[in-house]
Amino acid sequence: MVQRAAWWKRAVVRRGARRPAGPALAVLLAGALVVAGLGARDGVAEQNPGPDRADTPAAARRSVVYPTRTMGTYADVIIVTDDSAATAPAARRAHAVFSRLDSLMSNWTSTSEVARLNRVAAQGPTTVQPEVAKVIEVSMRLWRESEGAFDITVEPLVRLWGFLGGPKRVPAEAEMKAAFQLVGAQRVHFDADTRTLRFDQEGVKIDLGGIAKGYAVDEAARSLKADGVTDALVDLTGNMFALGHPADSDHWRIGIRDPRDRMRYFARVHLDPGQGISTSGKYEQFVAQGGRTYGHIIDPRTGWPAEGLISVTVIAPTALDCDAWDTPLFVLGPVDARRKAKEREDVAAVLVQPGAGVDTVWVEAPLKDRFTLEPAARQLFCVKFF
Ligand code: AMP
Ligand code: MG
Repeated sequence: MVQRAAWWKRAVVRRGARRPAGPALAVLLAGALVVAGLGARDGVAEQNPGPDRADTPAAARRSVVYPTRTMGTYADVIIVTDDSAATAPAARRAHAVFSRLDSLMSNWTSTSEVARLNRVAAQGPTTVQPEVAKVIEVSMRLWRESEGAFDITVEPLVRLWGFLGGPKRVPAEAEMKAAFQLVGAQRVHFDADTRTLRFDQEGVKIDLGGIAKGYAVDEAARSLKADGVTDALVDLTGNMFALGHPADSDHWRIGIRDPRDRMRYFARVHLDPGQGISTSGKYEQFVAQGGRTYGHIIDPRTGWPAEGLISVTVIAPTALDCDAWDTPLFVLGPVDARRKAKEREDVAAVLVQPGAGVDTVWVEAPLKDRFTLEPAARQLFCVKFF
């Protein structure tokens, strides 16, 4: 927390001025956030039942926020409804999806399925729980498609830097070298048909932190749909999926967090029904030392925290695709990320490249009509389409 505040101050000082007032956030989320289409935060409505509906005119539909704490962070299930008590059980079941997937995929506990795999998979093949198997399968495909930029075997390095609990620090060269020798998805042998996993070597470990939230958001949305909910937005700390649309619009308006001032958003994009969005930013977790900041996304090809971009937002047909791609695009850096994003029809990206005084926002051409820079951010960001 102290480090985060210090970094934020430095960013302001470096620019020589306070950032001009922009829209402040009502809630702190990791990357993207809903900026419109919401009523006031209702909380869980059944705790506060309204008047007898027989005596009142029909209520207007509005977006009701059902918040929860999960995966070490906050999540909102936002349901468009005219009866928030009636939709509360669906929200609760969506929350339960988060808890279930956290207990399977967390790297912060010794009791998850991923923790078990990390304990036993170097000793011989082990059968993987079906949902974890699904995410590992996608991760291995993504490793190949991203030219090695997405690699779930970064775990030893992520842990060494303190990004999986423990004090955050810049490790010694020798420690880095030792951890780096364990990194590389070629050391992971996964058979999707039999759901068996084996690691080549003792010490190899996987971290699904770069993709699991996206999977969880899709599953929560699926649960809402199964409960008959037609219009909702699932938001797990900036990993979102839009089911339908808000009552007053045919799309959701989503703010993208300013990577240099996480209290503000610098731009907004439209999210259509059936689309996901997610943002990876350097501000989420980092180590600051010697005038430099090192973010929590590791370049598996060098073993060092990725440089070159400070924020990556992805819009895609599923939250899984979004979360999956925001991490490797961040690793690939401004040039290769643009190439890769253009190459993939399913992925549309917004990349923020740091500059001296003014940052460049690379917006993929298909988003042109859906992307708006906030007026207060115009002197701090230069938008280029690719
Ligand atoms: P995200 O929140 O999607 O940006 O994912 C960040 C998380 O992904 C980190 O906190 C790590 O747990 C994990 N991670 C870091 N670097 C990589 C990488 N190169 N490939 C896959 N996962 C990564
Ligand atoms: Mg990700």
